[in-house]
Amino acid sequence: MLSFKCSDVGFDCNYTVTEDNDAEIMKKVMEHGKRDHNLNSNDFTPSLIDNIRGKMQKVEDN
Ligand SMILES: [Zn+2]
Repeated sequence: MLSFKCSDVGFDCNYTVTEDNDAEIMKKVMEHGKRDHNLNSNDFTPSLIDNIRGKMQKVEDN
């Protein structure tokens, strides 16, 4: 499992997401960004996506 915190890429936001893999997290983060931060697809630049991937943390599932 991987988790991601929105605040780790600079938003003043307490959103976190935990999913099986980075593709699922990206999907959820893009939905969240569009809904809660008024982002659109063009705002998810390769550098933002790299930044998001770099902030994902491994979570042990018990
Ligand atoms: Zn957020």
